[in-house]
Amino acid sequence: AGLTDLVRSHVREIPDFPAPGVLFRDITPLLADGPALGELVRGLADVYRGKVDAVAGLESRGFILAAPLAVTLGVGMLTVRKAGRLPGPVIGVDYELEYGTARMEMRPETVDPGHRVLIVDDVLATGGTAAAAVELVEQAGGQVAGLSMLLELSELGGRSKLEDRQVDSVLVY
Ligand code: 5GP
Repeated sequence: AGLTDLVRSHVREIPDFPAPGVLFRDITPLLADGPALGELVRGLADVYRGKVDAVAGLESRGFILAAPLAVTLGVGMLTVRKAGRLPGPVIGVDYELEYGTARMEMRPETVDPGHRVLIVDDVLATGGTAAAAVELVEQAGGQVAGLSMLLELSELGGRSKLEDRQVDSVLVY
């Protein structure tokens, strides 16, 4: 309840961004508030301490949360990136967007065999990005320990793409 209220009170809702009809959840006020950011990261670390061997952040806002969480947990941080950003060798997974497709990539060498990997992002929307990350971590030889999302937009149904996965969202809309 503490973390949920903390996040709720630091997220701005921006209508028609980045496109007409979209209600964008902006987490920059949360990031800019030092005590709030610290409380969030420590609170998330308390949930996962001892349960994960690495934290994988999803480009771009997932990186911002995954790195301090990894440091607090004393584990490494893995980057799951948009196509073409990582030097090879990489593995990639394509997924559907509302209009068109996208691709996420990862360096498989960054995943130690059998490591329990926590996948972190700011927002779970349709779930395509998160589902691609699950596939990448598993293809690379890791075990997905769970997914930690700051916000979940439940009406977009992302959770259904992640069935049988442990998905924790701090705040669900
Ligand atoms: P999905 O693949 O689940 O449809 O989209 C999730 C990705 O889109 C996440 O990486 C997230 O950063 C971004 N995203 C979608 N909607 C929002 C939003 O309202 N606010 C923010 N901050 N990111 C969003």
